[in-house]
Amino acid sequence: MVDTKLEDEAGRLAALHRYEVLDTPKEAAFDRITGLVKTVLSVPICAVSLIDADRQWFKSCVGLDVDGTARDISFCTHTIKARVPMNIPDAAEDPRFAENPLVTGAPYIRSYLGVPLSSPDGYNLGSLCAIDTKPRDFDPTQIEVLKSFAAIVTNEMELRRIAQVDHLTGAATRRGFTVEVDKTISRFLRGQTPAAFVVMDIDHFKKVNDTYGHPAGDIVLRTVGTKLSELIRSGDLLGRLGGEEFGILLTGDTVEQATETAERLREALETTVIEHDPPIRITASFGIAALDAECLSFEKWLAKADAALYEAKRTGRNKCCVA
Ligand code: GH3
Ligand code: MG
Ligand code: MG
Repeated sequence: MVDTKLEDEAGRLAALHRYEVLDTPKEAAFDRITGLVKTVLSVPICAVSLIDADRQWFKSCVGLDVDGTARDISFCTHTIKARVPMNIPDAAEDPRFAENPLVTGAPYIRSYLGVPLSSPDGYNLGSLCAIDTKPRDFDPTQIEVLKSFAAIVTNEMELRRIAQVDHLTGAATRRGFTVEVDKTISRFLRGQTPAAFVVMDIDHFKKVNDTYGHPAGDIVLRTVGTKLSELIRSGDLLGRLGGEEFGILLTGDTVEQATETAERLREALETTVIEHDPPIRITASFGIAALDAECLSFEKWLAKADAALYEAKRTGRNKCCVA
């Protein structure tokens, strides 16, 4: 049977663009995977490469200092033409790649193993690839390992698509965040699993826009989003609730644990120097609310956390207050 989805480039690109992942900030979840592949397969280079119309873009990459390359010279554009991994033991001996500038010049690729990243509806969006600068034969176990990591990559992408990720900050959208908060409330009703809602608002953010311009404000929001998502645990959820207001859902945490987390985030933001000319520094205020019988809806729980945030603003900003 003909695998029509491998030939359907327009459908493939539409599927890729539905993930809204291209040109989003680096994320720890993907960097952990490429870091692990590098270690486990002992390769110098590993990338999550997504194949756009005329470029390959790296959601994560170790061992290469670029965001991507032109599509026509990429190995991964060959990988997505098949359902099985592409294994190139020696690129210099392979007529398809011997003259490739990535082989004849930096980064001097000699061997390549790439596993297609397939969407649940069957489109190859890109590849998870392991690259070495010397010839090598990846053995069947290593191929299986890379296939498992590729499945984790597509799963992460799928979770983000479902959670609806905000473009600028990489955080869940308010809508996606609300869905997860509702699930947490249901779980609480079934088993009394504790949870805490932290709401955070950047202090005097209007001043950043007024002083440095709106694009600088966007850089601040992007940096804050990246920083916060790096610092929370993988099971916690960061959401962008409004312009410069974020929510953090801490499932399983008591209010004391949540307060510790909020304090850690507050300190991290306070000490972050945001890359800009001139560099920008900001602070933020936090409100923390435990889940209890009085706040069994998103709106009520948020209102409780918001009241604590208001208190933090009122009593001097750059601090955490508990409801
Ligand atoms: P406070 O300490 O009381 O929170 O002061 P503030 O200046 O941060 O207060 P306020 O919430 O009134 O200001 C938020 C500003 O954020 C207003 C709005 O123009 C700006 N903003 C909202 N969304 C975005 C965005 O996506 N990008 C940028 N650059 N600015 C945004
Ligand atoms: Mg605000
Ligand atoms: Mg503010």
